[in-house]
Amino acid sequence: MIRSTLSPLSHTLSRRGFVAGLAAAATAPVLSRPALAQAAPHVFKVGEVEITVISDGTMSLPLSFVLPKTDAKTAGDLLAARGQSPDLVAQVNVLVLKTAGKLVLVDTGGTKDFMPTIGGFADRFEAAGFKPDDVTDVVLTHAHPDHLWGAIDALDEPRFAKARVHMSIVERDFWIKDGLAESMPDALKGMTAGTYRRLKIIESQIAAAKPGAEILPGISLVATPGHTPGHCSVFINSGSQSLLVGGDALSSPIISFEKPDWAWGADYDATQGAATRKVLLDRLAADRTPLLGYHLPWPGLGRVERKDLAYRFVMA
Ligand SMILES: [Zn+2]
Repeated sequence: MIRSTLSPLSHTLSRRGFVAGLAAAATAPVLSRPALAQAAPHVFKVGEVEITVISDGTMSLPLSFVLPKTDAKTAGDLLAARGQSPDLVAQVNVLVLKTAGKLVLVDTGGTKDFMPTIGGFADRFEAAGFKPDDVTDVVLTHAHPDHLWGAIDALDEPRFAKARVHMSIVERDFWIKDGLAESMPDALKGMTAGTYRRLKIIESQIAAAKPGAEILPGISLVATPGHTPGHCSVFINSGSQSLLVGGDALSSPIISFEKPDWAWGADYDATQGAATRKVLLDRLAADRTPLLGYHLPWPGLGRVERKDLAYRFVMA
């Protein structure tokens, strides 16, 4: 199965692993979809796994934040040429998987106290007919607020109290260190303390896994570090089909694919983040494995094609 580095990815992501219908939609350009989150959940299948994408909201990301090392005119011109405004609007796409008697979340959304435009997942999850106590497993790609903080309710209790929470050992051990917040830059102190506090609330539920481990039947963590030290993508395989849930390894449908080398301001280690993007893009394009990105245009689903000397994201 998948190991702790990206190198075996090409052996494990099968060419047969297309989500049904992706190939037929391959020519749809990335900008053909509306930028705003859709209210209704998006449902599709990967083999026997039923996947429901539910929006947690949207996040506005100023160009100066996400591309601190890139000349603003250069970046703005590229985005304008693709019909996008300089201030990026990122979706927040939370996954609900039904598989073999389990109800599994991949990430949990964020909270309105972190950003008022997110934190809608919990209500939409219940409106879609799901119950928090029925969630058997939560898989966290990483511990940033828009992925983890939704796992805690307004009373500071675990929202998914009966679930086992799977995450990378590297990621858990990084964030749950005493005193980490004081060592962070001022701009990250509050976020770091908030993540520490929330991980402590669910600490007894956490089943930390080595990257590469199969955490549930057909569901594995793939190490994609850089955005955070232990950031993992989630590989889902069922029958002849597969899907890579990329978390925040590839966040912009333009920049991450066409300019994977550009330092991404949200990455903890920008050099490692760029290296991960390039390996991941190469594998996904070669193997034609579908990708679902947490912040990619709703519902985040598509695939990677080579374009000139880089890549492009083609929505499903
Ligand atoms: Zn994120």
